Amino acid sequence: MRLFCVFFISLLSLFTNAGTMDSWFRDFKRSATPTQLYAFLHAMPKGGDLHHHLTGSGYPQWWYALATDKDSNGGYEYYTRVSPSLCQGLSPDTFGPDNPFMLFRTVQASTWRRLPDCEKTHYRSLSALSDEQKAAFLNSVRLDKQHEGRNEFFETHWQRLNELTRNPYIVGQLLVKNMQAYQTENVRYLETQVNVHGMMDATGSPLSAETALSILLEALNSPTAKATGVTVKFQYALLRFLPNAEEQLATIYAFVDGHRKDYVGINMVGREDNDKGHPLRFLPALRMLRHKYPAIPLAFHAGEVDEPNHHVRDTLLLGADRIGHGLNTITDPETLLLMRHGPYLIEINLISNLLLEYVEDFQSHPFGEYLRLGIPVALSTDDRGMWGATLTDEFYVAVRAFNLSWTELRTLTENSIEYSFLAKPQKYALKSSLSASLDEFEDKAPQSNFISVSVPTDRFICRREPSLCSAPKE
Ligand SMILES: [Zn+2]
Repeated sequence: MRLFCVFFISLLSLFTNAGTMDSWFRDFKRSATPTQLYAFLHAMPKGGDLHHHLTGSGYPQWWYALATDKDSNGGYEYYTRVSPSLCQGLSPDTFGPDNPFMLFRTVQASTWRRLPDCEKTHYRSLSALSDEQKAAFLNSVRLDKQHEGRNEFFETHWQRLNELTRNPYIVGQLLVKNMQAYQTENVRYLETQVNVHGMMDATGSPLSAETALSILLEALNSPTAKATGVTVKFQYALLRFLPNAEEQLATIYAFVDGHRKDYVGINMVGREDNDKGHPLRFLPALRMLRHKYPAIPLAFHAGEVDEPNHHVRDTLLLGADRIGHGLNTITDPETLLLMRHGPYLIEINLISNLLLEYVEDFQSHPFGEYLRLGIPVALSTDDRGMWGATLTDEFYVAVRAFNLSWTELRTLTENSIEYSFLAKPQKYALKSSLSASLDEFEDKAPQSNFISVSVPTDRFICRREPSLCSAPKE
């Protein structure tokens, strides 16, 4: 009986706290300046970032610093195209994937040395760029202009980074930088998509996936990374529209099965407006692989398209437990009903969806509807390096555009651990520590003024949606 009373009282105090905090937060939202609201969300304990592409999460200045520092990048040197070349003359291939007019396509020195002499003259060592060229290089992998959108992102950013993404030392250091950045934002878990096949050494020879992974793990287990306190697990990503994607999926299954300590899931990525990668294409391959291997958690991109279709439903049929983006679930009522209070989570990437033109504005984003219908959702950052954003920015946009309550903020945060692919004991430990930190934050927040955190001034989202960064209407 006494135990029951203690339990009842603590449950009561939990409800009272949550209710008090909701009421305090409602008033705080009305009176806070944008800076105070941002600082509150920055300080708020956060769970995990569940939708994160590691090579898309390097800010351009990180890429540049790592690419030009042989001591931290494994001794590699890089060259980037600084003037358009027509060395081969005009041909039908001129506007193909290796478009010679694409500036800042970057290759490692071993590749540059093999280029024809005429081509070489159009490249310059990254370390020798003029200030103007360096600024242009940095901007070439940022989605910061009004006219830049989906095509710029899918068709030029990756092609420019090119061989930089095939250096496991750079990728490892990007991971450490992400962990450090997340520590400052009070994020405690990262489930990042990172591949290790196709890496090269500084001479241009292929590195085995095992070697590349060991280089990545060395960075992950370094004292600097450990000091952040951020737990990291990997997902392996399959580029879905490739002709041999089924073969690659089999290779990925075998690899992830052999490295379950570090790899906790598989993802399926790539432009969904390329129908060659449609979900049901992979049903036979996945059924065969499920026959062969113990279960591997799947988090697939789906519904990141403009038109209505049943791809989210089809992706659940593929066996996915989490859906990346899930934007067009809103147009599929049966699937929407299936997901209400269900076991499947939609990973929401608000800033990505706006900048890649999948929504006109946040008014037309279905996030609020999903959240308030009881569909499990969590906020994540996708390729934040290319839009200069942070997880705090996602929360900031969500609060401003959807008037989130404290209880909703807490649910989003807790979902990001609850629906992670962590093993049960680790998940339980993270959930408990997050819950304790959130309780403590609830106690302290009303006494804080939230102006001590410096807010980044160059936030692209403020330029795209200035109203979100101006003072709220009284
Ligand atoms: Zn994504």
